[in-house]
Amino acid sequence: MQLKIDYESGKIKDSEQIAIQRIQTFEPSEGYYLAYSGGKDSIVIRKLCELAGVKYEVRNAHTTVDPPEVVKSIINDQECNINKPNESMWKLIPRKKMPPSRLVRYCCEVLKEEGGEGRFVVTGVRHAESSKRSKRRHVEYDAYGSKSKKAIKEREKFNLMNDNDEKRKMIEQCVIKGKNILNPIIDWSDEEVWEFIKKYNLSYPSLYNKGWDRIGCIGCPLAKSSKRIQEFEEYPVYYINYLKAFDRMVEVRLNNDMETEWNTGEEVMMWWLEIENQAEFDYVDNKIKNLYKKQKEKAYGDNIAVMIHVERNVNTIKMNYTLSINAY
Ligand code: SF4
Repeated sequence: MQLKIDYESGKIKDSEQIAIQRIQTFEPSEGYYLAYSGGKDSIVIRKLCELAGVKYEVRNAHTTVDPPEVVKSIINDQECNINKPNESMWKLIPRKKMPPSRLVRYCCEVLKEEGGEGRFVVTGVRHAESSKRSKRRHVEYDAYGSKSKKAIKEREKFNLMNDNDEKRKMIEQCVIKGKNILNPIIDWSDEEVWEFIKKYNLSYPSLYNKGWDRIGCIGCPLAKSSKRIQEFEEYPVYYINYLKAFDRMVEVRLNNDMETEWNTGEEVMMWWLEIENQAEFDYVDNKIKNLYKKQKEKAYGDNIAVMIHVERNVNTIKMNYTLSINAY
């Protein structure tokens, strides 16, 4: 592991020792709430908590758009408790009347950030993941919701628990009101994460071996367009489900007299994937729909009822809105 200066003691230590020390320093009496996604970073913090010898509870927020391989491993994980959301992404989109976006990521609030109130949450957030995360610290205060202006302001004010008495008070107070967040591997590079995983021979989702650098919600609007297309190519049924949800969303918008430039799920998808050229979108759309058909044929080829449904999914999505409006 890389050697770094531990700013608490002024000594040179390796990243693993520093992370373990961070975890031990802030251990709450009731134990940590370990936010576990099943991705590489959360696999690392789970092992670090074990090595640190602290009390912790492993919690997964089921988003309904996680990769099936990850969902399966979490379901089979005896130590992991799952927070099930009240509604799926497919219901959330029409209810919110807009697709989730980088600016309005309502799905995170509803599907991902639920749970952990009043607890000390330990996460695998790292600066190396994104420029936005480069501003995150290894201990944070989140009493008001992670993206509210107030929470951002509080984070700016807040540094370390032992910085001074005033800041320390703020942390003790937020244990009652909201969440404290510990990011023990905030300054780890991707290389350090993989080195640690190999050192302890930890199992990880095979998607990483297929070239995925990050594993999270399929189609997440925070990811690059090319990455989202790659995800839909691997799991085309999610693409179909998003199209259907967008269709229902357009219908709800029109029924509520909301202005909309979209008429079909595909039109929303083209905007959502940030594809400007119609021919380029048609290529992507056809490719993913064909992959979906092939996957279903492989699994249910001899089941005529299922295959009729599959064909209808692919061919009539564009007509869904017209059909349902005509029905009124
Ligand atoms: S899709 Fe992205 S923005 Fe939505 S819950 Fe998942 S991570 Fe958050």
